[in-house]
Formats: sequence, C-alpha cells, structure tokens
Amino acid sequence: MSDHNSFDTVRIHGGYQPEEHQYASNVPIYLSAAFNMGSAQRGRAIAEGRESGYTYSRVANPTVAILERRIAQLEGAVAAVAVASGMAAISNAILTVAEGGGRIVAHHDIYGASLDEFISLAPKLGIEFDFVDDINDPQELRNAIGPDTKAVFVESVTNPLTKVTNVDQVAAIAHEAGVPLIVDNTFPTPYLFRPIEHGADIVVYSSTKAINGHGNVISGLVVDAGRFDWSSKRFPQFSEPEFTLYTEESGHARSFVEAYGNEAFHQRLRCKFLRLLGAVLGPQQAYLELLGLETISERLSKEVSSAQRIAEFLASHQYVDKVNYSGLPNSPQAELVKNLYPRGIGSILSFELSGSEDRVNRFIDATQVFSYIPNVGDVRSLIVNPARTTHREIPFEFWEKNGLSVNLIRLSIGLEDPDDLIADLEQAFNKAYQD
Ligand code: PLP
Repeated sequence: MSDHNSFDTVRIHGGYQPEEHQYASNVPIYLSAAFNMGSAQRGRAIAEGRESGYTYSRVANPTVAILERRIAQLEGAVAAVAVASGMAAISNAILTVAEGGGRIVAHHDIYGASLDEFISLAPKLGIEFDFVDDINDPQELRNAIGPDTKAVFVESVTNPLTKVTNVDQVAAIAHEAGVPLIVDNTFPTPYLFRPIEHGADIVVYSSTKAINGHGNVISGLVVDAGRFDWSSKRFPQFSEPEFTLYTEESGHARSFVEAYGNEAFHQRLRCKFLRLLGAVLGPQQAYLELLGLETISERLSKEVSSAQRIAEFLASHQYVDKVNYSGLPNSPQAELVKNLYPRGIGSILSFELSGSEDRVNRFIDATQVFSYIPNVGDVRSLIVNPARTTHREIPFEFWEKNGLSVNLIRLSIGLEDPDDLIADLEQAFNKAYQD
C-alpha cells in the first residue's frame, strides 16, 4: 500500500502486506518467542543488520512490527517502537535521551506516575528534572533550558486538567537551544493531534488508552520523527563506538550516528533499552491494539462530541465549582484549541464538585453507567477521583498548581448514549446532595 493514503485508510491497512502472510485479512498473531534463522550465513547477516529478518521476539516480532509501521505512518514518523506500557514508553525515551545523566525540562502538570518517576526515581539514575509552571510562557521555558538539558517533556493535553500545550512554540524554543522535544500525546491520539507536524521530535503514548480504545491491553509506543541531529556533543551516547554495530565490512565498532544518522534515536532505544531492559509488547497485545485502532476515528469523534456536551452540562450545574475542559468555548485556551485541535481535544475532562469529600464519595458510588475505573480512553465511560487514585503519588506541594484536590473528579467519556450519561450524572448529584 502507498505511504500517501489518508489517516482513515492507513489505520486499517498501514504497514501490512497480506501477500506476505497467506493473504490473511486480519494481521496474524506470530505467537513465537524465536524464529529459525535458516542458515548460518543468513543468521549472521541478520545479526549484522545486512539482511532484515526476525530472530527473537524480545528484539522484534512480525505482529508487533506491523503495529509499529502502522503507527509510524499515521504519525508521519520514520519509525515507532512498541513497548509493554505507557510508562515503559516514557522511561525508555527518557533513558535514551539522557543516558549517563543530565537534566530534562518538563511541565509539572502531567500524569501522576510520570511526575512520580521524574521526582523520585529519575534523579537516582542521574536524571534531574526542571519543572516549569507555565509551559506556554516562552521566557520561562527559555530560562529553564541550560547547557546540560537533554530534552523538553510535555503532555499535549494534560491529565487531568486538559491544558493544551502550544507544541509549535515549545518545539521552536527547544530547537533554538539544540534540544529535542518529547510529547506525551496519549489524550488526543494521532486522530486529534499529530505532534510531529508541529515540531515534536519524539512522541510517546500510553496506547493502553484511546489508541486501543477497549481497555483490554496495557501497552506503549515511542515514535521517532527522525529529524533531530543526534551527533551534537550534548548527546555523546549516540557518537560513541558501539560494539553491537561492528561489521566486518566497516571493520570497526560504529556509533549509532554513523550507522543510522538521524534515525539513531529509535535504533538505540530498541537496541540498548528495549533489548536490554526487556519491556517488550507481546504479539497478542499488538493484535488487540491493531484491532482497536481500526475504529479510532469513529470512536473518537463520537466520544469528543459527547465529552463536549457533558462538559457544557457540568459547567452550568449548581453543584459544580469548576470544569476543566479546554474544549469549552469560554476556555482561556479556546483560540489555541481552535488552531491546533479542529476535531476537538479529546474524551477526557475533570471537574470540582462543591462540598465535602463525603459528597464526592457518595457521587462516585451513586453512578451506575459510569464505571469507577482508573483508566481513560475506553469505550466504557469511566469516573475516578485522581487525588486518591491515579494521581495520589503527587506530593502535596504540587497539588494547588496541578489543580489537584479531593474534590476533583475525572471523567473519560465512552460510546454510550450521551443522554444516558448525563442522566446518570444527574441522578448521582441528586443522591450525593439529598440531605
Ligand atoms: N501518559 C499518560 C498521559 C497517562 O494518562 C498514562 C496512564 O494513565 C500513562 C502515560 C501511563 O500509561 P500506562 O498505564 O499504559 O503505563
């Protein structure tokens, strides 16, 4: 299939040649840990990268490779690497870019486990984080980037406040300083926003969420735009001799830059971090990801339209103090949203319920169509209290600026009838406030 097809064609056919797989209509699941290398000569050629082929599923698997190619095509990237979870995608990306130590500039308004990793684990591995309060303030961002900065990390639409990052501006500032931009694009998915078209160098996903869409797989993706110059002195790991890249032909241990040029990032991530730390995605999970991806456009467009209606319903509700949904017409980010997100910002929103935490608990317990589940991007509508669950590891000093409180409730809107969802919320309000 041509690389030039539109999004809706690529999400169904991209990266798959049926004639190479018995003309199977569905992508086959290659449930095999390893592959016969055929002959000693072929085995060596594959190991040295002179011939393509599969040897061992910790390094590459045909089903997983189809998912990777399809995602890369959807994103306009040179390659994608599928991994075992969204956190594995973030960790592998961070470790690859800041291997050996250094600093990363990040927005503090991010998913709880990401912030926990950046505050409490990464520094122990020699990677320190500099957090900015307003990622869209050019001066604050410029001031935060220093000589030892290895990357800027942002969420395109933040969890759970749905603040929108001006990716074009952040990418331009990072590049002025010779630093790559990593974007966690989990909330919008490539259907609503394609960060590489706005200057991002690396995109990471929890494809556990709306890319799969059915809440039946934990998985992650690292996507490489293939544009960044990794030969810069800021990233010595890409220029050092690497024994796995020794070939008889070259006669020496090549560096990743020498062997792969601008594709050094995804190649090094796969060879050193995925292969050695081992957080691979299995072929059955990749199959379920591919199946979910086939309906991404229809799912997302209905979920976004329902989320918009529910945000409007909540915004005028007497028991709601505040709604966080940047897709609302009166949001302070409405102009940015109009420019960057013509199809909407996504299916997730959050709001503050007025009153005590007891009311919040009663409200959650009273919902019947919404499921109390710490996930997002499912065809089922989900409700959660982030401060007690998904974001509970965030230290108290971040709560106020991250809009976190025990009154905050996050909703992920699924494919049910939006009238039923609104009726469910209304009856839950009535139960929570009946005395
Ligand atoms: N990034 C974002 C924005 C998330 O919401 C999540 C999970 O909720 C993750 C990353 C981590 O993904 P996973 O749970 O697949 O490891």
